[in-house]
This record gives sequence, C-alpha cells and structure tokens, in this order.
Amino acid sequence: MSGLRVAIVGFGKIARDQHVPAIAATPGITLAAVASRNASLSGLPHFATIEELLRDGPEIDAVALCTPPQVRCQQAVAALKAGKHVMLEKPPGAAVTELDPLIALATEQRRTLFATWHSRYAPAVAPARAWLAERRIDKVQINWKEDVRVWHPGQRWIWEPGGLGVFDPGINALSILTRILPTQLFVTAAELSFPSNCAAPIAADITMTDTSGLPIAAAFDFRQTGPQSWDIIVDTDGGQLVLSRGGARLAIAGKTLVEAPDEEYLGLYRHFVELAATSTSDVDLSPLRLVADAFLLGSRRIVEPFED
Ligand code: NAP
Repeated sequence: MSGLRVAIVGFGKIARDQHVPAIAATPGITLAAVASRNASLSGLPHFATIEELLRDGPEIDAVALCTPPQVRCQQAVAALKAGKHVMLEKPPGAAVTELDPLIALATEQRRTLFATWHSRYAPAVAPARAWLAERRIDKVQINWKEDVRVWHPGQRWIWEPGGLGVFDPGINALSILTRILPTQLFVTAAELSFPSNCAAPIAADITMTDTSGLPIAAAFDFRQTGPQSWDIIVDTDGGQLVLSRGGARLAIAGKTLVEAPDEEYLGLYRHFVELAATSTSDVDLSPLRLVADAFLLGSRRIVEPFED
C-alpha cells in the first residue's frame, strides 16, 4: 500500500459508481477502509461509523465523505481533529455557514479540506471557459432536467431539510456556470416548487445576473421523463456556445468541438493527491451560495406529493 491512504465514509451510490474506480486508477492514493452503517467492500476493513474507523481502524491519511450533506460537517470535524485530510462530496454542506469553521479547522490542523465539484472536471468545461474569456456574453440559459426516480431511487435524504431536492443536481450546473463565466454572479429571483409531502423542492426556476446586467436563467426539474437535459447555452458575439451532457460535449455555432468520456472523478482524485501533498485546501462556496440565495429569495408554491 503506497501514497495517500484514504477511507470512504458513506458507501452508497456515488462511492461505488465513481470513488472506488477513480481511487483505483489514480497514482498516489489507495483505498484503505470503508465506514458505512450498512454497506462494506469485500477485502477491506469495515467500520459502521467514522468514529469507529478513527478509533479502531488501520492507519489512514484521508477520508472521502460520500454521505448525504446533512451529516458531513460533524464527520469532517472528527476527521480533521484526528489529523486526516478531508474530501467532501458536493454539495460541501447542508448550510453555507458550517463551512467557515471547517476551513479554519483545516488550517489549524495543517490538513487539506477539499470541497469537490465533480462537474467542473467534465472535459468540455475548461475549453468553454477559455473560449468565453475572449467573448462578449449576452445571455445564458441553463436547462438541467432529470428523472429523480432514475438517478436517486429511494434517497429519502434528498427530500429532507438540507437535502436540497432538485438543487442536488442543479448545483452541478451552478458549479460549471461559476467556473466558465468570467464575472461574479448573484441571484435576483427564484420560484421553487415543493411537493406537499417534501421539505425540499422538486423544481426551481432561478434568475441570476452580474454587475453588467447579464441575463441568466436556470430551469431545474426533477420530474423529467424521456430524454434528460444537462445543458448550458450561452449567446455571445462569437456565436452560441452549447455545453451539453453535463459538460461532456461542447458545440460552438453548431460545430462540435469537444465530445469526450466522463473522467470527472479521476480529475478530482488527482487534485486531492496534489492538495494533500502540501496540506492545501480548496473550498469554493460560490455554487452553494447561489443555492442558498435561491432559498432566501425564492417564492414557493406547493405541488403534488412525490412518491418514489
Ligand atoms: P446514497 O446512495 O444515499 O449514499 C449515501 C450513503 O451514506 C448511504 O448509502 C448510507 O450508507 C450513508 N448514509 C445515509 N444517511 C446517513 C446518515 N444519516 N448518517 C450516516 N451515513 C448515512 O447517496 P449518493 O447518491 O451516493 O450521494 C451521496 C453524496 O454524493 C450526495 O451529496 C450527492 O449529492 C453526491 N453525489 C451523488 C451523485 C449520484 O449520481 N448519486 C453524483 C455526484 C455526487 P449506510 O446506510 O451504509 O450508512
């Protein structure tokens, strides 16, 4: 076993689908243990909780927190106090204010706190950012619509306070938006649709802008059936830029320039290894702030109950 020894905490869908293969494929990092109440991985030490992992587990250098956002802060505190580097799945927390003490604790402990935004590592995001840096941007439209029953089956936490509802995928769009646009953005209005039996929205329409008055509209919907949309469309003086498939495809003025497979989590783990080598933190809260402001400013309407 060599390099950074990491334990995954919260062994659910994203841990299995992305973290395990990405760790296996990244030089300088090894999966050393799993902490999850109900799930384990054959051949690896298993603990029910992060406290048991830190007390009784093998020597580790880092944890990747893949639990729902509502429980991650306390887990991050425990890991940082034990001297471990911490990778946070997105969104970095259930609240914006819980991140400041975590950042301070990481600095005090001289450990890395990495708030991941996996969508920023999609292959077309960096080329889109570079292209837009040279253009006048006139208008942005985001369409992020997916079928919650396909992508989040049985995930009750998503509908509870702090679970974000449709903002759980929507924040991925906002993480791309805040990376590719050259200016700082803010929310001016939002309309949130809450199922009558849920504490989190199933759909949201958000209006944003920057200090130049750029019109930005985002439509998030969890009720999409049939074709799914993960698109960002930017009108510019050089033609229309379309980022689609969640950032895997880039077309400009109708011509496809990038179309590449998803290697987002490889990029995340490469960056985590680099950060941990110098105990540097990387925490950008701008996507979470936009979501928080959508909740602050948003008008609310109640829609039909959601049953999984
Ligand atoms: P998930 O399938 O529900 O997995 C999370 C795991 O955390 C659960 O299997 C559960 O394992 C554990 N857990 C749940 N509630 C807990 C609690 N109260 N205390 C401690 N552990 C708890 O969810 P997921 O889809 O993997 O999502 C996890 C995070 O990754 C979310 O923030 C999500 O936004 C992010 N993410 C998800 C995706 C995706 O496509 N699903 C993509 C990118 C990022 P045990 O029961 O074994 O403890």
